[in-house]
Amino acid sequence: MPRDALGIDRPRLRALRARQDAAFRERTPRSQALYRRARELMPHGVPCAWMAGSETPVFVQSGDGASFCDVDGNCYVDMSQCDLSMSCGYGPQPVATAVSRQFRAGSHYLLPTEDAIAVCELLQQRYGALRWQFTLSASGANAEAIRLARLATGRDRTLIFSGKYHGHFDEVMVHDDGRGSMPDALGLPRSVIERTVVVPFNDLGALERALAGGDLACVLTEPAMTNLGVILPEPGFHDALRRLTRQNGALLIIDETHTQVAAYGGLTRRWRLEPDILTLGKSLGGGVPVGAYGVSAPLAKLMEQHLELPLGMPPGLAVGGTTYGSALSLAAIRATLEQVMTPQAFERIAALGARLADGIERVIGARRLPWTAYRLGNRSGICLAPAWPRNAAEASAAIDAELAGAARVFLANHGYWEPLPIHGPTASFVHGTEHIDGYVAALAEFIAAVT
Ligand code: PMP
Repeated sequence: MPRDALGIDRPRLRALRARQDAAFRERTPRSQALYRRARELMPHGVPCAWMAGSETPVFVQSGDGASFCDVDGNCYVDMSQCDLSMSCGYGPQPVATAVSRQFRAGSHYLLPTEDAIAVCELLQQRYGALRWQFTLSASGANAEAIRLARLATGRDRTLIFSGKYHGHFDEVMVHDDGRGSMPDALGLPRSVIERTVVVPFNDLGALERALAGGDLACVLTEPAMTNLGVILPEPGFHDALRRLTRQNGALLIIDETHTQVAAYGGLTRRWRLEPDILTLGKSLGGGVPVGAYGVSAPLAKLMEQHLELPLGMPPGLAVGGTTYGSALSLAAIRATLEQVMTPQAFERIAALGARLADGIERVIGARRLPWTAYRLGNRSGICLAPAWPRNAAEASAAIDAELAGAARVFLANHGYWEPLPIHGPTASFVHGTEHIDGYVAALAEFIAAVT
């Protein structure tokens, strides 16, 4: 059989993709009709460019729990939960009840409600003695965290790790492919490469050299990187990162936007990390868009000393937004933390994640492929290498866009939604064993067909 070094039979893969694309088109005539109308109204025919892809987007009718259905009546078990922003499922009852009650009473007053206090107490139980501010997204939380770090240190530059993702704002959209820093995308000013330093994850020498320059306001990182497969920190990495940032006067910002669902209290609690600032977003609102960041007591004091007042002089710290920290957001977060993301629920989904990883390993083993499964709490996925990657270069080599693209269409045609090649399947708070086992069976069929 003409298999390549990864064990993939490319001609069969391409033939399967063509058949699956045709089947997909046949199953989605209403979506395609809507798309033709939408193309006249929105760039790419979608309200946000991230919904556009190589094939026609499906238009959604509605979702419930772990699944959603499109306008043609096809239903999908969602294995990616909108890139981990919907890990509480579609329409979780406790959040629906809290949000509709709060909405009727007024979604926002530009004043606090008691829910804010309850939420901060819940967050302190999980993440330790931090003091909290709220935004509308994780991007917003990271942007404010970086501004606070600049104020605290009197320095401008941010350090991030290759393979990172922290949001779509200038400072964090820089990469270095070995030939120097480059903006990640079009529309960014070239000057971002002066404001942001990028080094490989797990490379303590490079980190130390960058910090020694004495001009870094902060290091911003996920505890384990999750946006290019899974990259775990090597033993001692976090200890050294904390020691070096302290020694060199830079703040440490830990972004738990994704990893907050991998363990109760995130990996910060599990690994006893000591960030100066911890950022959150996505699933935290149980489906309502929110972001949040927790800051140490001294940083909270600094914020209080630099409140930005209307027409105020001298200027204060640039944080906040008209719709941030709304009563609606806080009601949603409270219901999510109290009733959905409970300690027991974390235990349940970690077990489901292990079942998912075991299933993927069985699929790989049955075909004797030189691959392995990722395993991080509720998260899994195929790593196209025998060992997990230690940095972005190794992680990129363990992903195959052609394989992932074909898997996406095949799985969709078999009732499983997994849109992103860089994020493996994840067990959510509303998945059951039947969803995990069904997914593994569909994946086994796909892998058998192309390897
Ligand atoms: N941080 C991390 C680790 C993320 O993965 C993402 C989104 N993928 C973000 C921040 C930004 O989230 P949002 O797009 O909701 O602002």
